[in-house]
Amino acid sequence: MKEILQDLSYQELEAMTLSLGEKKFRAGQLAAGLTQGKRISEISTLSKTFKERLLEHFEDAPVTVKERFTSSDGTEKFLFSLADGNLVEGVAMRYKYGVTQCVSTQVGCRMGCSFCASTLNGLIRNLTAGEILCQILTVNALLRAENARNAKEEGGMPAKDARAVTNVVLMGSGEPLDNYDNTIKFLRNVTAPEGLGISARNISLSTCGLVDKMYDLAKEGIPINLTVSLHATTDEDRKRIMPVARAWSIEKILKACENYFEKTGRRYYFEYTLIAGENSDEAHADALIRLLKGKPCHVNLIRLNKVKERALSPTEEKEAYRFLGRLEKGGISATLRRQMGSDIGGACGQLRAGYLAKNTARERGDE
Ligand code: SAH
Repeated sequence: MKEILQDLSYQELEAMTLSLGEKKFRAGQLAAGLTQGKRISEISTLSKTFKERLLEHFEDAPVTVKERFTSSDGTEKFLFSLADGNLVEGVAMRYKYGVTQCVSTQVGCRMGCSFCASTLNGLIRNLTAGEILCQILTVNALLRAENARNAKEEGGMPAKDARAVTNVVLMGSGEPLDNYDNTIKFLRNVTAPEGLGISARNISLSTCGLVDKMYDLAKEGIPINLTVSLHATTDEDRKRIMPVARAWSIEKILKACENYFEKTGRRYYFEYTLIAGENSDEAHADALIRLLKGKPCHVNLIRLNKVKERALSPTEEKEAYRFLGRLEKGGISATLRRQMGSDIGGACGQLRAGYLAKNTARERGDE
């Protein structure tokens, strides 16, 4: 695989442009083209020679859309192909305020959570900062082109803002803090004013609770929203579904969250996936209240998305609402997330797992 141009910060892009004998302002044109989601070969402001030089070193399109699925609720899922043929997935969810895109940080995952499809075949490799960014640049360009087309059909003017994607969550496949350096570089580049300039406040990072890295993150000076996947109220219960619980206790996680709040002033979030017979009865709600009461946090409940390869099932909707009500009564700020795109394989890693299974079946001649 060649190098990935979108890994570079604006300053690095400038240095590289100069080192190839081009004038400094060419870096600005290059950055503008890349921010628009163009391939190197498509940036019309640059000379043919400069582009040829770039293409000797860098991938023309590090991330391309292999498949796109639209759910009945407007949620879109993308299966992306990387330059080496590996696959990752992403989701774009439309809300009133804009579009939130969920991005992947690794091909596969080595955390081994028992309910998650991303980890079924372990970790294949880390994504580079540019590969994480390119998922957004690609979807942003697609949505912008579609918005412009729709506006034209309706006789209006397309929006001037370069962004269709307004919010980003690092909740696709992979554990972002297990790919720490690339994730931080991505965060710096995606928030940089010379690029998409997405505000750190509109970005959320979800971790299964790698405590040492949570402390590192608090020192980076990038005030993103920190979310921890909790899913249990005791270490014993947590170890049953999340192997990472053997390394870090809930107590240590809570201390690291408190530190994040002190350093960044940002309240923190917990993901709590409701799994039938596992973590969602009244006693669990009460234990969660005891654990979190008075802390500057918010709990996002989500009913398990059934993963074919996994034996676990979601809590009934009625019970999920009861769980939510009990938390709220106990003074915990919480929401039950709508399940978006569940008709198109909404949960982490399901698209890739589905695609790989389908293709293996095809290779075996099952289809
Ligand atoms: N590795 C990170 C981010 C990726 S997972 C983390 O663990 O937080 C994003 C969220 O989806 C996590 O809270 C994860 O526990 C949850 N998740 C994974 N599989 C799920 C499923 N089948 N149903 C519901 N939530 C799931």
